[in-house]
Amino acid sequence: MTESPRVAVGGVEVSLDHLIDGERVAAERIFECRSPLDWDRKLADVARGDAATAERAVGAAVDGFATWSGLPVGERAAALRRLADLIEARNDDIALVETLDMGFLHRSMRERLVARGALNFRFYADMAEAHAEPRWPARGTTHTVQRMPAGTAVVITPWNAPFMLATWKVAPALAAGNSVVLKPAEWSPLSASVLADLTVEAGLPAGAFNLVQGIGSEVGAALTADPRVRRISFTGSPETARRIGAAAAVNIVPFTAELGGKGPLIVFADCDLDAAARQAAAQYEDSGQVCLAGTRLLVEASILDDFLEALRVRTEAHVLGDSRDDSTTIAPLAHPDHLARVEGFVERARAAGDTIVWGGRRRPESLHYELTLIEPASNDSEIVQREVFGPVLTIQAFNTEAEAVDLANSTRYGLSAIVYAGSADRTERVGRAVRAGIVWANTFLVRDLAAPFGGCGLSGIGREGGDHALDFHSDLKTLIHADDRATDY
Ligand code: NAD
Repeated sequence: MTESPRVAVGGVEVSLDHLIDGERVAAERIFECRSPLDWDRKLADVARGDAATAERAVGAAVDGFATWSGLPVGERAAALRRLADLIEARNDDIALVETLDMGFLHRSMRERLVARGALNFRFYADMAEAHAEPRWPARGTTHTVQRMPAGTAVVITPWNAPFMLATWKVAPALAAGNSVVLKPAEWSPLSASVLADLTVEAGLPAGAFNLVQGIGSEVGAALTADPRVRRISFTGSPETARRIGAAAAVNIVPFTAELGGKGPLIVFADCDLDAAARQAAAQYEDSGQVCLAGTRLLVEASILDDFLEALRVRTEAHVLGDSRDDSTTIAPLAHPDHLARVEGFVERARAAGDTIVWGGRRRPESLHYELTLIEPASNDSEIVQREVFGPVLTIQAFNTEAEAVDLANSTRYGLSAIVYAGSADRTERVGRAVRAGIVWANTFLVRDLAAPFGGCGLSGIGREGGDHALDFHSDLKTLIHADDRATDY
């Protein structure tokens, strides 16, 4: 690989260039990257790709596809396992880069999320290798279903959880035999660059994995409009999904869209109240920049006061601080523009007559917004209906199970839901009635990678996870062979 200038980010050497066809490629234009931990100090000048960069990256990926998809699945899986090993070996470096770049708590990155990135590659290496083609006899023939690698996949990721989400989406694409062009978000582009280095070190052939840095409306739009691209895997906002969907429609390209959420956390009177309050306070973590968060607290009226008190205690125990400090439990928001957006939501709620129960202002000395609880004047309030993506929860009371389900299903989103109740009958009933891609009962965030993952309504199109992602990244072919008893109709 050509040596490209690297910048020390927290002491970790990071390339700020694209990776195309196994080589680092510099750009004429750059964009600035700043740390939410110290906004006044520039972290790096990152390559700002344009239409020509996209053209070149897709070209490299099309060539890379021929090599990568031609390898036996065992060789591809071995390369992905080497990549997983390298991620584990660089755990602390990746954790630090992500913390400085995006603001994520260093402890979570170090202890959990980088390892999850490695697991994504290991899991899909195992899954692709273990895949047994479905085969069955029918009317004198044998039917066999083959997964053909689809071609070049463009993967576009958002600024929250950049490393975890990039690996979650890149791993199945590569495991299915596709080549990849990854475009991370411009607010947190750096951990993807470390990943790009590791794909080279792991011995992936040139062009199998390519990284393009830049602004979504520029290089992102060019990538998704390229007719040579055969799959688009996107995580981000509904607004961008509409644009990408339009580009995909022009080229008749399948795309998945994992979008926002406005999940309910439903608390029934017979639940373990302390556990439910702890879980509710945990929804503030990562400053609420979590698509799966249960941000609408729906609480049975008979326990509302007790629940509120328990939640207040848990909320006050949170520590807003520097993400590098292990005693901090709440990181700053990722960007001043996002802080202003969160602030705007709360100010409009205040003006519209919603009640600010606690919080409701920014911290002067950092990019933190106070942990906020709002009692809306109505279920139609903007603060209930739109994703804030910040440390802002709403609280509403219900009297019956039917009312709880109606409220849970009353937004256009449908990504996730959390139910706290004392009986399995109730969690089963409510879980089945709620419209969401995933429902947790008396727990949160635990999810086997084989499970389908995605949203209903405004929360997205398609499912990733397990076989769903491998099927998405493949063209399925049915082979029908006549056997001795074949008939010709
Ligand atoms: P965004 O849609 O603004 O940006 C996401 C990515 O799309 C970025 O890389 C951006 O550069 C790129 N992009 C922007 N315009 C583009 C265009 N015209 N063509 C191609 N690419 C373009 O979203 P964001 O603000 O970065 O992310 C936050 C959103 O992501 C929230 O709504 C959050 O809920 C959602 N999210 C969803 C999940 C999930 O799994 N469902 C996970 C994390 C985040």
